[in-house]
Amino acid sequence: MTDALNALIAPHGGSLILNFADSDEQNVLREQAQSLPQVVIGSRQLADLELLANGAYSPLTGFMTREDYLGVVNDMHLSNGLPWSVPITLSVSAEQAATLTEGQRIALVDDAGTLHAVMTVHEIFSYDKQLEAQKVYRTTDEAHPGVRVLYQQGEILLGGPVRVVELQPQTFAVYRYTPTQSRNLFAERGWKRVVGFQTRNPVHRAHEYIQKCAMETVDGLYLHPLVGDTKSDDIPADVRMRCYEVLLENYYPADRAVLGVFPAAMRYAGPREAIFHAILRKNYGCSHFIVGRDHAGVGNYYGTYDAHYIFAEFDPQRLGITPLFFDHTFYCRQCEGMASAKTCPHGNDAHVTLSGTRVRQMLQSGVIPPPEFSRPEVAKVLIEAMRQPAS
Ligand SMILES: [Zn+2]
Repeated sequence: MTDALNALIAPHGGSLILNFADSDEQNVLREQAQSLPQVVIGSRQLADLELLANGAYSPLTGFMTREDYLGVVNDMHLSNGLPWSVPITLSVSAEQAATLTEGQRIALVDDAGTLHAVMTVHEIFSYDKQLEAQKVYRTTDEAHPGVRVLYQQGEILLGGPVRVVELQPQTFAVYRYTPTQSRNLFAERGWKRVVGFQTRNPVHRAHEYIQKCAMETVDGLYLHPLVGDTKSDDIPADVRMRCYEVLLENYYPADRAVLGVFPAAMRYAGPREAIFHAILRKNYGCSHFIVGRDHAGVGNYYGTYDAHYIFAEFDPQRLGITPLFFDHTFYCRQCEGMASAKTCPHGNDAHVTLSGTRVRQMLQSGVIPPPEFSRPEVAKVLIEAMRQPAS
C-alpha cells in the first residue's frame, strides 16, 4: 500500500500539511480558548479551515501573512516560491483589529459561538481591496460575485497558523474524503495517473465525453464536485449529487471512477481559480486536471480560453499537476458521436446544442432533453427536483 501511495503525485510542497488538532490537543485548545479573544468567522472561512485541517491547502498552515498575500495577489506565488493563485485570508473590522496584538492567540468561532480553531496572529495588516479585485478577479466591478464578497469583508487581515478543533457541518459525509482518504482510495485501486474533474453543475453528455476522453489516457477519474458556497442560481448540491450518482451508476465502470465532494467555496475567479482548483486536486492525489471552457467563470468577465492560457505562466514542474484542456463539445448527427470543433468538420446544423436557458425551460416543463444532450436518468433527477420546492 505504501508503494501504491508513493506512486501517486506528491502533494504541493512535498507532503500533506494537516492543521487539525488531535483529541488531546483539542482538549487543551478548548480549555485555553475560553480566555482568548474571539473572532467570528463566516462560511467562507469555515470552508478554508476544513481545507487547512485536511491538507487540501498544503503547504499552507493558516491564513496568509502579508508576504504570502502580496506574492499571491501580485504574482501568483507563495513566499517559498510555490505557485498559488488565490489569497486565503481572514479579515476583521478596523475596530476589532485595534483590540488585537501580533503574537497573540485568538479563538475562531462561528456565529453560534462554537469554537472551530485557535489561531496565532503573526501579522495584522491592511490591504488594498481594489488591487486584489483587479489582480485576482480581473475586475473591480462589485457585480462580480467574488469581488462583492471581497468588498464586503473587513478592512484588516490577520495572518498566522491555525490549529483546527472542529470542522464545519459535514454534509455528504460519505463522499467527503480528505486528501489522505482519496489518496488511499486511488492507491487501493492501483491508480497512478488520476484525472480530477471540478464541477458545480450537473454533468451532461458534453462533460461526460470530456471526462471519458481523459479517462482513456489515465487510470481513473476523480469526479470532485464543489459543494461549498455557490451563487443562489446555481443548482443545489444535493440535486447535483443525485445526478452524479445516477450517471456513474449507469455509464461509468465502477472501478475507474470515484465520486467525492470538494468542500471549497466558489470564488468565480475564472483563470486564477482554475490554477487554484488544480493545485488543490494535486493535494487530493490527482496527476491531471480537466480545464474546460470558461473554467470557474461568471458573466462575461473572462475570455473563453483565459483559464487555459494562464497555465503557460507557470513552471510545469513547480505546478506539478498536468492540465488537460478541452473545448466545447457536442453530439454531431453526421459524425454520429460526441465531438468538438477539433474533431468534427460539420456545420452547426448537424450539432445537438442547447442553451442553458433552453435546457432549464425544458426541465421545468417536465420535458426530457434529447439523449444526445443529457442522459435520461440525469434529466429525470433534475425534472423531479424542479417539481418540488427546494429541499
Ligand atoms: Zn460532425
